[in-house]
Amino acid sequence: MANELLLKNVNIIDERGDVTEDADILIGDGRIQKIGRKIEEIACETMELSGHYVTPGFVNLHTHSPMNIFRGLAEDVNIDDWFNEKIWPYESRLTGDEAYLGSLLSICEMIDCGVTAFADHYMFADRIYEAALESGIRADIAPTVFGVSADFDDELKKACNLIEEKNGENPRIRLRMGPHAPYTCPPHTLKKIVDSARSLEVGIHIHVSETKSQVEKSRSDLGRTPFGALYDAGGFDVPVIVAHGLWIEKDDLKYLNDKTFIAVCPKTYMKLSMGFGGIWRECENLPLAFGTDGAASSNTQSPLEQARLFALAGKFVSGRPEAFSLREIWCMLMNGHRALGFNTGKVEEGCDADLLIWDLNRINTLPLYNPLASIIYSSGPENIVHSMVCGRFVKKDGRVLLDADYISKTAQKHAANILKKGRGESKVRY
Ligand SMILES: [Zn+2]
Repeated sequence: MANELLLKNVNIIDERGDVTEDADILIGDGRIQKIGRKIEEIACETMELSGHYVTPGFVNLHTHSPMNIFRGLAEDVNIDDWFNEKIWPYESRLTGDEAYLGSLLSICEMIDCGVTAFADHYMFADRIYEAALESGIRADIAPTVFGVSADFDDELKKACNLIEEKNGENPRIRLRMGPHAPYTCPPHTLKKIVDSARSLEVGIHIHVSETKSQVEKSRSDLGRTPFGALYDAGGFDVPVIVAHGLWIEKDDLKYLNDKTFIAVCPKTYMKLSMGFGGIWRECENLPLAFGTDGAASSNTQSPLEQARLFALAGKFVSGRPEAFSLREIWCMLMNGHRALGFNTGKVEEGCDADLLIWDLNRINTLPLYNPLASIIYSSGPENIVHSMVCGRFVKKDGRVLLDADYISKTAQKHAANILKKGRGESKVRY
């Protein structure tokens, strides 16, 4: 075993928000080998990091990474127009190369913002896989399947084939099934998708109860909430990432179990006026973590920004400034690791070294009475000086180790072409 890296004199913030001062961390074979004071072992690289903080990386538990290519295309519209007039018609003409580049652009931004793992839900899952593989980040990718699509059987077969072929090929990347939502997957199709996930021994990632009107429509069509419809299809028998769940109701809580996680993306809800739903009111009883949704609705790819907005909106609307505390928000940020089930999310011996190294001795975060407050309410990507996945740097000395210049230039070219092609016919309606 090679001792690849020794981090000297760091302060560790663990997944609960507790701080251990002045420790050394020895990393080798992609894992944390040893934590202690004044470690004497020799490593290939030693970094003197006195005054810096080390934390687990962030997980972006729900995104559509290729949608970075649509950032800024659907502004100041309501949710109906966002889907039906803007996004789905443009998506219908999206090519694999554009999706791949959008995904790379997104990954570049995520790494800058401290994301070490993301859960993606989109078409062109093979191209997202390619982007994740090249970039060094960790990923959990769900090929999207629409039950209402005329090509449903083909879409499902393609998703199954991709999962079978790629899942487990690289230890950093896993796949799961991505039924779009109960409202776009009628019960018999939803059941078929969940059954396929079960037979492939993978989980699912699905949008549930995003809006109040979706819940009302599900009640009148099926006599069940969207959570109830997912339960009927067996969706809670497998590990499930519920995207949004914004309008979850008290009665839906009975469906959730220890394999269920809910990825909340408050910036999207605020931007599209989707309301102050159950995720805030039931917060203490819910397995919440943060996602960013796609950049076409949330504009950025930072789970930390989403966490900050979640806390601020919670305090503002509830009138309870003592609620949504720093520790609660930090634990929610760390919850994404539990949802994905990799050996990450803790700064402990034996865990994979997916870590961030923070410089909080900067103008925007000083003075340092409370490092959690500095991170959650004051920090930006500039405070994350180094980031690593499996012990390998993906950001070093403040710079993302991808060709950001090439990615940005190519994205701009693709964007011009997307406008030139214009809108096509979408397969589904919101
Ligand atoms: Zn989404």
